[in-house]
Amino acid sequence: MKIGFPRALYYFDFFPFWTGFFHQLNIEVVISPPTNRQIMDLGLKNASDETCLPLKLLSGHIQALKAVDWVFLPRMVSVEAETYTCPKFLGIPESLLSSVPTGIPVLTVTLNWRKGQRLVLKDLQKMGETLGKSKIEIKQAFYEGQKWQEKFQKTRGAEWNFEESIREIENLSTCLVKPQPTNPQLLPEPDRLKIALVGHSYLIQESYANLNLLKKLREKARVELIQHVDQNEIETNLLELRKKLFWSHSKQIYGAGNKFLADPEIDGIIYLTCFGCGTDSIVQELLSRKARQRHKPYMVITLDEHSGEAGLITRLEAFLDMVERRRVHEGYVSTHGERLDCYSNTL
Ligand code: SF4
Repeated sequence: MKIGFPRALYYFDFFPFWTGFFHQLNIEVVISPPTNRQIMDLGLKNASDETCLPLKLLSGHIQALKAVDWVFLPRMVSVEAETYTCPKFLGIPESLLSSVPTGIPVLTVTLNWRKGQRLVLKDLQKMGETLGKSKIEIKQAFYEGQKWQEKFQKTRGAEWNFEESIREIENLSTCLVKPQPTNPQLLPEPDRLKIALVGHSYLIQESYANLNLLKKLREKARVELIQHVDQNEIETNLLELRKKLFWSHSKQIYGAGNKFLADPEIDGIIYLTCFGCGTDSIVQELLSRKARQRHKPYMVITLDEHSGEAGLITRLEAFLDMVERRRVHEGYVSTHGERLDCYSNTL
């Protein structure tokens, strides 16, 4: 049996869990190819105009799945206690049924961690009936999936490169070994700028859609990502909010972003977002206000299907030049001192 798994959206966070789960059940997981022009065009033609870029990409990846017995589209309502995923996640699979190739059935399950592990397992067991698997087999697969996910989580925390980690997982490896940096130019040097790149994992790691932003940035600076921040630090940096954030990704972004803002070693922050993202419209604004208060260089890059490489490079270079000049000539103190208006950066 072959399960088609689109290489988009939840792939970037939860693929290890699902691949461990299906591997234990002896089911082959077929992933759609990395994003390319054709996949993007398929997504743009089929998905609603109003939706965000990651959902359009998901639509393209679903259409790219060939020769599989099922297309797997889980509805991930909540992935941890007291939060929800973005409302657009909740609309899956219904909002994307028109993208599923004719004749291939959809395999789905509703996962809601707010209800607790026992009920999550129960929902998975219900899905298992469709696959002809017993409750005990699903239970074992569930624990196996959790083991794979934990391993992936740990390696990312140890500054693993996402591609390296995921390649190991894709190869069904059970022993992850930290890779050696291959390009000596990319070795950390204390005098290189240190830039934090924040945003959704499925934008930051989606190198086709983000025009290779992460690679370009790594060539010019040391890069810190949300995944490198310890979960306890994220929680601590959320405490100052008067109201809790509902969405799990937003919590990670704000908590890590806030930590980067306070970190004197971080020279600047880039927020990568996409056109049409509802949750980012709030979190991005919250972080940008704090960045102004702290006089931390901050830039927002908004992606959509029309983003061009030349424009991105120009903005990136201008931002890094500005950060570099500030570090060399101003010693992190504004020339206007405390008179700077923290809300507009003007006098
Ligand atoms: S959080 Fe934003 S980018 Fe992600 S699915 Fe929701 S609207 Fe799209």
